[in-house]
Amino acid sequence: MTAQAAQQADLATVIGLEVHVQLETATKIFCGCSTDAADAEPNSRTCPVCLGLPGALPVLNEAAVEAAVKVGKAIDADIPEETAFHRKNYYYPDLPKNFQITQYDDPICQDGELTFSVGDERRTVGIRRAHLEEDPGSLQHVGGSIDTADHTRVDYNRAGTPLLEIVTEPDFRSAGEVRSFLAKLEEVLEYLGVFDSTRDGSLRIDANLSLVAADEIDDDGTIPEAALDDANRTEVKNITSHKGAEKALAYEETRQKNAVKRGREVAQETRHWDESRGVTVSMRSKEEEKDYRYFREEDLPPLRVSDWKERISIPELPDARRERFREEYDLSAEAASKLTSTKQVADFYEDLAGEFDPDLAATWVADNLLGELNYRDMAITDVDDRLDEVHRLVELVAEDEITAKNARETVLRRMLDEGEAPDTVVEDEGLGKTGEDEVQQAVVAAIDDNPDAVEDYHSGDDGAINFLVGQVMQETGGSADPGTVNELLREELDG
Ligand code: ADP
Ligand code: ZN
Ligand code: MG
Repeated sequence: MTAQAAQQADLATVIGLEVHVQLETATKIFCGCSTDAADAEPNSRTCPVCLGLPGALPVLNEAAVEAAVKVGKAIDADIPEETAFHRKNYYYPDLPKNFQITQYDDPICQDGELTFSVGDERRTVGIRRAHLEEDPGSLQHVGGSIDTADHTRVDYNRAGTPLLEIVTEPDFRSAGEVRSFLAKLEEVLEYLGVFDSTRDGSLRIDANLSLVAADEIDDDGTIPEAALDDANRTEVKNITSHKGAEKALAYEETRQKNAVKRGREVAQETRHWDESRGVTVSMRSKEEEKDYRYFREEDLPPLRVSDWKERISIPELPDARRERFREEYDLSAEAASKLTSTKQVADFYEDLAGEFDPDLAATWVADNLLGELNYRDMAITDVDDRLDEVHRLVELVAEDEITAKNARETVLRRMLDEGEAPDTVVEDEGLGKTGEDEVQQAVVAAIDDNPDAVEDYHSGDDGAINFLVGQVMQETGGSADPGTVNELLREELDG
C-alpha cells in the first residue's frame, strides 16, 4: 500500500513475537559447563566448546531436548519424527564460532498455539515454531549504552546456555494482548519446570509490529498472507520483560501511526528498545534470511524425537488445574485463579487442602499469605523455605489452638517481618487459647465484679452481656473465643 493510501485507511495494528526463553538445565546445550553463572567470575564458566576453539565438538544435552518437547506438548505443537541442527552464520563479538548452532527447517516444535485471557476475553494465538539454539555470550558496554559506550567487554559465561526461540504468528492486535500472552507463557513454562523467571535475562523478546489497512482484514479477523508480507514492519529488540514489551510496542505503534499520518512510509528496520528513555531507536536495516547462509551442522547427527513425545510426560497445566480446583474444592473462579497463579502456590494449597478444610486452606493461601506477601512486595518464591512454618500456623488455627484473627494479624505478620517461627510468636505473645478453667474463672469473676451489668441483664437489657464478654476478653488477654464466653456467661447468669 502506498503511504498516501495508508494515510486515508483505518489502520489495524499487527504484532508477532520471537520469544527467547532460557531453558533451565544444569549444564549448557553443547558442553558440560554450568549454566549457573550468576555469581561467577566473567569467562570462568567456559571450555573449548563454548569458546569455539578449533577442533572442539558439540555434544547435545538431552535435558534441553526434553524441556523443548515438554513445551511442545504444552502448546499442542507437532513434534516431527526427526529434527536437525543448523549453523546460522554471522560475525559478532559475542559469538566466538562466528556461527550460532540453531534449527532451521523442521524445528523441534511446529504449529502450536496458546490460549490466554485478556480481561474477560479468551484469545488464542498461533505459535509457528519453537526451535532449540545456543545463547551467545553477553556484552557489557562500559561507560554508556550500545551506541555511546567507551569500550565493551565480553563474557562467554552465557554462551551455550540452551534457548528455545518461540515464534508466534502475527496474531496480536494490541500491546496489551502481548503482555497477557507473555504472562501466560511464563506461567506455563514455570509449571513445566523448564524456566526460571528470576534468572536475569531468562526471557528476551523481539517484537515485530506493522500497520495494515483495516479493509484488508477478512471478516473473520484473519489477515491475508499477501497483506502481511506487504506491510513494512519493524523488529524491536532488547525487550526483557512483559511490561517492557507492552511499553515498547505502544511506543512503536504510535510512532508508526504518526509517520503514516504525516504521509511518510514506515521503514522496514530493526530497532532497539531503550528502556530508560522509553523509546525505540533505529539500529540497522532489517537483515534477511539469506544473509545468514544457513547450512546443516554436520557435527551433530539428526535427532530422532518421534518416541520422546510418548516417553515424556507433562504436569497438569494452569488452565486445567484451575478448573479442577473449582470443582474439587468448590472454589470461586477468583479464588481458583489466585490459587493456581504459580505452580508453587497451587502445590502449597493442595498440600493444605488435603489436610485441613479446603475453605480454610483457600483463605489462608489466597487471602492471608498472598495478601501479606503482596503487601511486602514479595512472592511465594521468597518464602519457599518457610512454607512448613505457614503450614504449622494453619494447623494451629485448624486445631483451634489460636484464633484466626491472632494468627493472621499477629503471628503471620511477625513471621514475615521478623522471621519468627509460629510457635515462638504464640508463646511470646501469650496467644494460645486460654484453657477452659481459666475462662470459666474469668466468667465468674466478671459476674461478681459487675453487679450493675448483671442487674441490667436480668432486667432484660441484652446489651449488658456484651459488656461482660468484653470484661472476660480483657481478663484473658483476647485469647478466649468470644462466642464461647458469651455462652458461658449466659449459662452462669440464667442458671
Ligand atoms: P523473518 O523473515 O523476518 O524472520 P518471519 O516470517 O520469520 O520473518 O516472521 C518473524 C516474526 O514476524 C514472526 O513472529 C511473525 O509473526 C512476525 N510477522 C510477520 N509478518 C508480520 C507483520 N506484517 N506485522 C507484524 N509482525 C509480523
Ligand atoms: Zn563450555
Ligand atoms: Mg525469523
